[in-house]
Amino acid sequence: MSKFYNEMVGFAQANVAPHTKKVDDEACFPEESFKAILGSKKTGLLVPEAFGGQGKGLTEHAEAVMALAESCATTGLCYMMHNVATMCIVLFGSDEMKKKFLPKIASGEVLFALAYSETGTGTHFYLPEITVAKDKENYVLNGRKSFVTSAEYADYYLVLSNSADTEGLDNWIIPKDAKGLSFQREAWNGLGMRGNASMPMLLENVTLDGSYRIGDAGSGQAQVFNVVAPFFVTGLACVYAGVANNACATVVEHAKTRKYTDGTMLAAIPTVQNHLAEIYTKAAGAKHFALAAAKAGSEGSADALAQIIAARLNASDAAVEVCTKAMKIGGGTAYAKRLPLERLLRDSLAAAVMAPSTDVLSIWLGKALTDQPIP
Ligand SMILES: Cc1cc2nc3c(=O)[nH]c(=O)nc-3n(C[C@H](O)[C@H](O)[C@H](O)COP(=O)(O)OP(=O)(O)OC[C@H]3O[C@@H](n4cnc5c(N)ncnc54)[C@H](O)[C@@H]3O)c2cc1C
Repeated sequence: MSKFYNEMVGFAQANVAPHTKKVDDEACFPEESFKAILGSKKTGLLVPEAFGGQGKGLTEHAEAVMALAESCATTGLCYMMHNVATMCIVLFGSDEMKKKFLPKIASGEVLFALAYSETGTGTHFYLPEITVAKDKENYVLNGRKSFVTSAEYADYYLVLSNSADTEGLDNWIIPKDAKGLSFQREAWNGLGMRGNASMPMLLENVTLDGSYRIGDAGSGQAQVFNVVAPFFVTGLACVYAGVANNACATVVEHAKTRKYTDGTMLAAIPTVQNHLAEIYTKAAGAKHFALAAAKAGSEGSADALAQIIAARLNASDAAVEVCTKAMKIGGGTAYAKRLPLERLLRDSLAAAVMAPSTDVLSIWLGKALTDQPIP
């Protein structure tokens, strides 16, 4: 593993892991973890050096997200979404927009989130239905976004809409304090990923001028498929590979330390050894496939898209399978929540439903492999 990944693991163990239990127990946003992330300027990972950032790409994004998720899936997911938003500005923002936002992202002053999904189009988050009306030089947005991770905590929210100026989609930056923006906190009580704060967001006559639109009018679709797709889908692969590896490490440790009256350890039972072997194989496979897919994406390999989608599908299945099997090895101790395995199992179940969901992505993969347009 790279020096950067190992440093991120050390950072996460020191600054993120101590808060993970509380974040789940109290369903509270990992504020302490994000204080450390912002304070150490990790928000600027993808910001070019010219704007004060670290100028890194998809590989480091994957490594950073995985390292954080190995300590706390919620923190990894919220950080991943911030990076996706950053990359939209880096690759599509005007010079003026870059000068306005990138230095603040690099210095850890601001956090971004993605407000894309809507109830009407569900997992197809790239099909927005909120309305945008033009009012002289301004744009007036109305509607509701259904799940917004980091809601109320992020300083800015990326919102997709149909364009009021042309065919296609627009990708907007909406400040948290914009008049007419509000959140429905009571609507988030997740089974897992409980600290995400993934609540609905209401837009009531939110009025923006054109400088808040990322890129040209109608470029939203290109942003979704060139930026959001690779960085988001890779990010999800890494979050759930992180969950699988956390469960693997937890259950291996338990199998070594849980002793019976005669002094033998749980791990001495051949059936348990079989299960541990399967758990490790799946968890390590998810990790290395996700990192390899990120490398393929950063190198522009011909099959990068297929690898990234496949890595996300693989990690999503692996996380659920590893956590389920780990619960069995953890016995009543795990069931009684004396081990964090039940939390990891709950977290893992989000993998299949997060957009684009695994059912939708597997259709896309079939199309990508046979040169058919997606979605
Ligand atoms: C923990 C968590 C965090 C989230 N964070 C964010 C966020 O920050 N920003 C954001 O924009 N969204 C976020 N979401 C929303 C998420 O990305 C999905 O949009 C949302 O979960 C869709 O829920 P739904 O009930 O509308 O699903 P539905 O669209 O009703 O789907 C239900 C099921 O039907 C399947 N399905 C639907 N259409 C098809 C099809 N054409 N082919 C095959 N299968 C299909 C889906 O795969 C799914 O299994 C989050 C969701 C969760 C759970």
